Amino acid sequence: MQLYPQDQVFWYLNNPVEITPLTNDISTEVLVVGGGMAGLTAAQAFAEKGCKVILIEKNYCGAGASGKSSGFITPDSELSLFELEHMFGAQIGNKIWKLIGSGVDVIADNIKKYDIDCDYQVQDTLVVANTARAFKNDIEKEYKKRQESGYPSTLYDRAQVRSVIGSDDYAGGISYGGTFGIQGYKYCFGMKQALQKQDVQIYEETPAIDIQEKKVITPQATITADTIIVCTDRFEPAAAILWNKIYHVQTFLMLSSPLSDDQVKQIFPAQPFMVWDTDMVYQYFRLTGDNRLMMGGSDVFYTYAKNESHNNERIAKKLMNYCRTKFPSVAVEFEYIWPGLIGISKDVFPVAGFDEKMPSVYYIAGACGLPFAAALALHCADRIINNNTEFDQQLSPYRAFTLGSGIQRILGTRLTFALSNFLAVGSL
Ligand SMILES: Cc1cc2nc3c(=O)[nH]c(=O)nc-3n(C[C@H](O)[C@H](O)[C@H](O)COP(=O)(O)OP(=O)(O)OC[C@H]3O[C@@H](n4cnc5c(N)ncnc54)[C@H](O)[C@@H]3O)c2cc1C
Repeated sequence: MQLYPQDQVFWYLNNPVEITPLTNDISTEVLVVGGGMAGLTAAQAFAEKGCKVILIEKNYCGAGASGKSSGFITPDSELSLFELEHMFGAQIGNKIWKLIGSGVDVIADNIKKYDIDCDYQVQDTLVVANTARAFKNDIEKEYKKRQESGYPSTLYDRAQVRSVIGSDDYAGGISYGGTFGIQGYKYCFGMKQALQKQDVQIYEETPAIDIQEKKVITPQATITADTIIVCTDRFEPAAAILWNKIYHVQTFLMLSSPLSDDQVKQIFPAQPFMVWDTDMVYQYFRLTGDNRLMMGGSDVFYTYAKNESHNNERIAKKLMNYCRTKFPSVAVEFEYIWPGLIGISKDVFPVAGFDEKMPSVYYIAGACGLPFAAALALHCADRIINNNTEFDQQLSPYRAFTLGSGIQRILGTRLTFALSNFLAVGSL
């Protein structure tokens, strides 16, 4: 079967929407820059607290990682509870886990409250080990941490995991509930509509080309604002901002043709799960509402590539091979592939805080997960309106990283971030 590469958000291409750019100078209390999960949730949080809010977006809402994502909504995205506790100690690690949980909750609440049509699929999460070593080092440790913290989960050894995933190739796994899948683009589109009904002004095809104290310049107009929340995730095109704190990782998604019920049963004998594995550059898959298998992954080279890589045959082959190896008796035909860039910090923990020279400017970046992006947006409104300084230290854009700017100048950005990310999570 032919594989169709997608250059833009797959779901948007099939359904383009009306766009309004900003053409005249305006002022507002809160300006949000970026219309992904973080920006839309920030706009919502400030609007619900009674602020006048404007949101500007470079392309269209959901054009970035949020719209291209595979839509696993679980607190356990890039960092597990075990990893958070390892980084910050049990008490703070647990509080951060709860904070991410608030992101899961707000997404679920919004889908219900605004009746957002975004292929909401309630599915438990299943993390599977590719090796016996990973089972011992990652899965068992995570299970123990979850037990200690009172989060229910089920542990499966090699024989038991076969009852929930139709593969003989996994060394065990852990599953837990309270998670669900969404179509990220449609969620963003639904939130855009809901916010517009609440008088949030949204201007698309309106990039911020310069961010100054209380002022943002766009191609056709200038916006003055008391508070500016920058939710661009990767700081483009204003690349000079936090250049040494945030880079990106690239991941790819493939979408199969609809599976038969029999094929679904072969892959998910008990019920559909949202699955990912324990590789450092991990594979992940889930079933969409129309029974397509959505499968994602990357490799070390492309993860840190400078630009998005379209029509990437190497990754397509890698993911197809993965599927064949894990499920040899299921003939899955993939139809589409697309890449996406995700903002990431050197230690894989997000950045959220004020600019050190421009007190009106607050950044949210490198969330590495839809729930964390939403949670940071909620926290940002709480930080600014209620002066809740909890997590300031952990989230500070100016915290110390193992490899600083000096080394980055010598090694280059890609290598510095690859090494830093490995030192942060690969060595846990
Ligand atoms: C293929 C893929 C799969 C993923 N799967 C999952 C998953 O299953 N679960 C999960 O939790 N996370 C997943 N992620 C990660 C998750 O999507 C991101 O971490 C999250 O969406 C980040 O949200 P955000 O709002 O910070 O960034 P984005 O969604 O990228 O939003 C930033 C927005 O800012 C806009 N922008 C950029 N520059 C400017 C500017 N100068 N002016 C105005 N606007 C600007 C962009 O166009 C974009 O719309 C995935 C990501 C990808 C790419």
